[in-house]
Amino acid sequence: MAFSLPPLPFANDALEPHFDALTMEIHHDRHHNAYVTNLNAATAGTDMENKTIEELMAEISKAPMAVRNNGGGHYNHSLFWSILAPQGVGGNLSGPLKEDIIKTFGSVDEFKTAFKQAAATRFGSGWAWLCVKADGSLCVCSSPNQDNPLMDISECPGTPILGLDVWEHAYYLKFQNKRPDYIDAFWSVVNWNAVEERYAAAKK
Ligand code: MN
Repeated sequence: MAFSLPPLPFANDALEPHFDALTMEIHHDRHHNAYVTNLNAATAGTDMENKTIEELMAEISKAPMAVRNNGGGHYNHSLFWSILAPQGVGGNLSGPLKEDIIKTFGSVDEFKTAFKQAAATRFGSGWAWLCVKADGSLCVCSSPNQDNPLMDISECPGTPILGLDVWEHAYYLKFQNKRPDYIDAFWSVVNWNAVEERYAAAKK
């Protein structure tokens, strides 16, 4: 199969008590797995199965909706797992990314407020993002469904370096309808070291 499910880089219960183990298990083993299975089915026998997931995103306007939804789902969740870590493991926001965030948003708290606003006000299902735009500047935005800023149809094009899944399947077992509480809990399990690596790569 062209695309495969990456393992979670930590145990299902490693993000407790912020993100619960059952949600992590179902989210990864069932939801993400289904996106991969459906993406492989939708690309089988086409030249799309020989492309990287990033290449697919960049020309998603030419692909069927099943590839947009499931390819986006695969890319988004792969990024999401990579920027999460147990509390205390992923380091603190620091260095050039912290400086850029303060320069762009005024302070780290104001950045978090802008990100929470994007995540909380995304109607229905989608994602909130911190991106590096083509001109090298930072921006916060959100996208619907499984769309993302790498897609050539995106209204906020850029390279995502931090993303938060705001589909109900990401938080409903623990937080029910309280999406803002889930967004607050997210900050306790961000792997800032991984975000800073993505930032450095995007700025090259
Ligand atoms: Mn999800």
